[in-house]
Amino acid sequence: MRTPLVAGNWKMFKGAAEAVAYAKVFRALAKDLTTVELVIAPPFTAVHGVADALRNSGIATAGQDCHWEKDGAFTGAVSAPMLKEAGAELVILGHSERRRVFGDTDADVTRKIHAAYAAGLAPIACVGETLEEREASRTFEVLDTQLKAVIDGVSGEQFAQMVIAYEPVWAIGTGRNATPEQAQEAHAHIRGRLRAWLGADAADKCQILYGGSVKPDNARAILQQPDVDGALVGGASLDPHGFFTIASAA
Ligand code: 13P
Repeated sequence: MRTPLVAGNWKMFKGAAEAVAYAKVFRALAKDLTTVELVIAPPFTAVHGVADALRNSGIATAGQDCHWEKDGAFTGAVSAPMLKEAGAELVILGHSERRRVFGDTDADVTRKIHAAYAAGLAPIACVGETLEEREASRTFEVLDTQLKAVIDGVSGEQFAQMVIAYEPVWAIGTGRNATPEQAQEAHAHIRGRLRAWLGADAADKCQILYGGSVKPDNARAILQQPDVDGALVGGASLDPHGFFTIASAA
């Protein structure tokens, strides 16, 4: 009932020229893959070029973050309307690297989500616990706090556009993916909370992606879980062929 979605988060890799070359290769590879929604999130400088190269392909382009103001004296920042103008349709928000390296708080994530909606961008909202939190049996509590911030003040109509990504911090870039059972447990918890807070219809329609060391050889087992609706792929999305293999597994 939910269409799978596979998104590649390139993080701070690839300049515009390399990004456009990738987009052309990937577009050709994925031209018959119509049962999966595909998203590529390049660095800011490549958003325009990638969106242009993917025009009318059905593959969407996303930003990796945005500021909550639409313009102003915020040196180094990029706003949601700027991403939209460059051709993005979605934006990743609340990624654990933004939270940890750049200090994004839950309140910042809430503001950014509302800025994204105001600009006509669909948020890919990330939540996930650290290893310390998991070992202290605090996973669900952490997810609940982050989820509340993600849906704070979001209308039903807006929520229908939202994608949620469960990314356990201990699995990101470590080569240590969550087991399919661990992913399913967290995803079922998230969907259960969404059901309680927003209703069954909203919860059942929401695409919940898993992210954290998804690779061509482990994607299928994770994506087979009933509450895993797709993947947010970092390192393994940097090669178009590997990313295509993962997308095909969905
Ligand atoms: P890796 O796939 O490199 O572990 O990164 C996951 C991630 O952070 C995607 O947003």
